[in-house]
Amino acid sequence: MRHRIAVVGSGPAGLTFARVLHRHGHSVTVLERDPAPDARPPGGTLDLHDTLGQVALDKAGLLAEFRALSRPEGQAMRILDPDGTVLRDWRPRPDDRANPEIDRGQLRDLLLGPLDVRWGRAVTEVAPGAPDGVRVRFADGRQETYDLVVGADGAWSRVRAALSPATPHYTGVTLVETALDDVDTRHPDLARLIGDGAVAVYGVNRSLVAQRNSGGHVKVYAQFRAPLDWHAGLDLADAEAVRSSMLALFDGWAAPVLDLLRRGAAFAHRPLHVLPVPHTWTHVPGVTLLGDAAHLMPPLGVGANLAMLEGAELAESVAAAPGPGELDDAVRAFEERMWERAGRCAAMTAAGLERLVSPDPADALAFFDELQPS
Ligand SMILES: Cc1cc2nc3c(=O)[nH]c(=O)nc-3n(C[C@H](O)[C@H](O)[C@H](O)COP(=O)(O)OP(=O)(O)OC[C@H]3O[C@@H](n4cnc5c(N)ncnc54)[C@H](O)[C@@H]3O)c2cc1C
Repeated sequence: MRHRIAVVGSGPAGLTFARVLHRHGHSVTVLERDPAPDARPPGGTLDLHDTLGQVALDKAGLLAEFRALSRPEGQAMRILDPDGTVLRDWRPRPDDRANPEIDRGQLRDLLLGPLDVRWGRAVTEVAPGAPDGVRVRFADGRQETYDLVVGADGAWSRVRAALSPATPHYTGVTLVETALDDVDTRHPDLARLIGDGAVAVYGVNRSLVAQRNSGGHVKVYAQFRAPLDWHAGLDLADAEAVRSSMLALFDGWAAPVLDLLRRGAAFAHRPLHVLPVPHTWTHVPGVTLLGDAAHLMPPLGVGANLAMLEGAELAESVAAAPGPGELDDAVRAFEERMWERAGRCAAMTAAGLERLVSPDPADALAFFDELQPS
């Protein structure tokens, strides 16, 4: 029996789910709010772990293509003291493929492949319990009915309300992001500072991280503890005003480190929110969640990886379910597995954020040492 399946969202979770189902010969409707794949900048680079994201790509039959595109050298990590002293300079072995980096846009295109995404389809509500299935309502007033609706619609999921009253809350840490282009030709001094992967500098309750993407593009992340309204009186659209406020926040740090902020172009403001840990719900037939919609956590290199693995695992379970009863059993079993694993990861990343943006910068260094292979 063929189930009518829709996935809401074409991020790493939704696309991996759809691609693995497609590989198993099942059709799936991908509903995406954005009007086109490149409607928004795709965001920074992702490291895909050999135990998480790469397992998902293998299930999608895309591991070899990922290996050809990814940047193993991007795993390199340098840590500086705010005065510029190099504290750690970790480089991967040439054959190290544990966490290679890939640009989000490249990953999206890899997963998209033959999938037929319905762009510009913003879901406003999902209503289970109708006799003929689960209703999906769209912003333009239309509605459709499916046997299974998978909410892979990210942090501010609209599908989540069908299952859980939980909403994300602020962690107390804000991220302000800027970027440099053509770093090797236009900013060779900063290219040397960053190296092949990333450079991180940890101070009291704040940090600066600069990370290479492909093509000489660098993302710079300033993270700091602050109330949610820290920018009251500051026009966040005014790049020079935000730059001045960031330079004041990091006052006294080494000049080359501050140059990452001085030479950045536009600034984006991203207060970090999380869902409660663990986030579970009473199972509702016909609806489930994946990725950030299910377990939004601090950005410590896990969220997209988990989202992809969950997408692949749910797709395999659904593909193996012949009838409606089996489909519901498969989703229920998937949720139990997801809650357990995601709960552990969410607790780990919450503790990590506390240590990386902490009153004691030595704790950030200790955290890095604990994570790094010797
Ligand atoms: C600065 C930063 C750095 C990060 N670095 C890493 C990293 O290195 N490694 C890692 O594993 N994770 C990282 N993460 C986390 C990672 O980005 C997320 O966990 C991941 O993107 C979650 O994927 P997702 O598919 O669940 O959701 P998303 O990527 O948010 O995708 C959701 C999709 O749903 C669509 N959508 C939303 N609402 C609707 C609607 N109502 N109707 C239809 N479509 C809708 C959106 O347009 C979007 O396309 C980072 C996060 C941040 C903020």
